Amino acid sequence: MKPLYRIFALIFPERCPYCSDLIEPEKIACDKCLNEIKRKHTPLFSGVGGYRCVSSFAYGGKVRRMIIRLKFHDRTQYIPQISEILASDITAAYRISDIDFLTYVPMHKTDQAERGYNQSQLLSEELSKKLSIPCIETLKKVKRTKKQHKLKYFERKNNLAGAFSVIDKDTVKGKNILMIDDVVTSGQTLSKCCKILNTAKPRSIICATVASAKGDYPENSYI
Ligand SMILES: [Zn+2]
Repeated sequence: MKPLYRIFALIFPERCPYCSDLIEPEKIACDKCLNEIKRKHTPLFSGVGGYRCVSSFAYGGKVRRMIIRLKFHDRTQYIPQISEILASDITAAYRISDIDFLTYVPMHKTDQAERGYNQSQLLSEELSKKLSIPCIETLKKVKRTKKQHKLKYFERKNNLAGAFSVIDKDTVKGKNILMIDDVVTSGQTLSKCCKILNTAKPRSIICATVASAKGDYPENSYI
């Protein structure tokens, strides 16, 4: 945690977003609520550009705030707890013995230097440990793009044109790959990454994200 956040945390201690009890800053919820989340949450399934995707949560409310903190406010300490939930959903949704390796949606090096980390990479590396499947960097973001959520639908596709490239096609060819991202909103970024990766002729690509704003799925009790 950055020093500024540490001071902030002293003045405004972290509270569980579900019951308001005080919690340690690396936690996304108190132990009681976290166990409830693990027990009651319903994984969501969607198709992202024709690729199957499993997500642990609907993107809204407290989950959205948690993702924003993870992404923009340096809360990488959430990664172990979130990954634990996502790892169990991946295990339930897919036959993990078939997956050759995990990979993730890349950031442009300038953006990553500014943020200090790529949360999708960190998620992927943590999931790799939990699932005992290697994590390999396969894609590179070669063009800086505008923030997708700030663009109109038809502008989003053009924004991503030429943004990603495959690092080493031989690594990808014939492999079963699980692509990781933090959140799928319109699905344009994730599906673009899958499509670019597909040019290197993998055997299959499936996806997993912490949260999803897509598709028809059962009401999630924890948003
Ligand atoms: Zn709680």
